[in-house]
Amino acid sequence: MLFSLISLTHSTTVKAASKINDYIISNKIKPAAIQNQKGTFSEWTGYRKGVGHPEGIVVHETSEANVTAQQFTDRFNAHWPTLETYVHAFVDDNKILNIHNTDYSVWGAGPTANARYVQVELCRVNSYDAFARSLSNDAYYIASKLIQYNLPDIPGQTVISHAQASNTWHETDHQDPVYYFSTWGYSMDQFNDLIKTYYNNLKTYGDVNGHNDHVIKVHNAHGSFVPLVGINTDNQIVPIENRDLGNNSVWYTDQKKVVDGVTYHRVATHEWVADSYKA
Ligand SMILES: [Zn+2]
Repeated sequence: MLFSLISLTHSTTVKAASKINDYIISNKIKPAAIQNQKGTFSEWTGYRKGVGHPEGIVVHETSEANVTAQQFTDRFNAHWPTLETYVHAFVDDNKILNIHNTDYSVWGAGPTANARYVQVELCRVNSYDAFARSLSNDAYYIASKLIQYNLPDIPGQTVISHAQASNTWHETDHQDPVYYFSTWGYSMDQFNDLIKTYYNNLKTYGDVNGHNDHVIKVHNAHGSFVPLVGINTDNQIVPIENRDLGNNSVWYTDQKKVVDGVTYHRVATHEWVADSYKA
């Protein structure tokens, strides 16, 4: 039928830019820290490729209004044996709660997906700003887990929605987070764009928002490591022989100092790196 051809053409060629992603990125929304809060789930089963080898992440949405990440965590911890479900993390606009070691599998989306993926639940919120913050937290958790397990970011493969898991393996019928996203004019494709931005920025700069004055990446074009120096109380440079930084490594820095016209960035209490090594 001609109608379906037209609609198919439109849905595959038109990719809407996301105002919500723009809001998150232009306001440099800072995700919450990932908080490890030991849960009660007592099934310690590896993935099909073994303990510590997930193949990606399933994106869930709780489908229940007005329940925070902490409230969901408490409920799952109390009732998982009867609910017969458990996930690795709950995320809302304020918190990222990791409640089961992601080296081991959980019960989130049917046996096939459970044996392959980390499972994270996004909690429903009630304002535009809270929705943006919850997405930022969720995307940060997902990008961090991909990086932790040395996984590439491939939408539909290493990052899938619960709906995609249901439609691929038919072991559950859940379609989250598609409907909830749509109530905010948002889509899984747009969420994948946000995850990609965060993933790339975390890998390059160590920060979801890209360049950050407190994060530096260092590289020595003329050697296999980046030298460190000390700065003594007379403001003189003292070489450090027994410690150095790896090429292309990323460091938190809290201070700058100029000695003899060279700017140094502090990366440990008594260790500095010259600005010329900034990658
Ligand atoms: Zn789900």
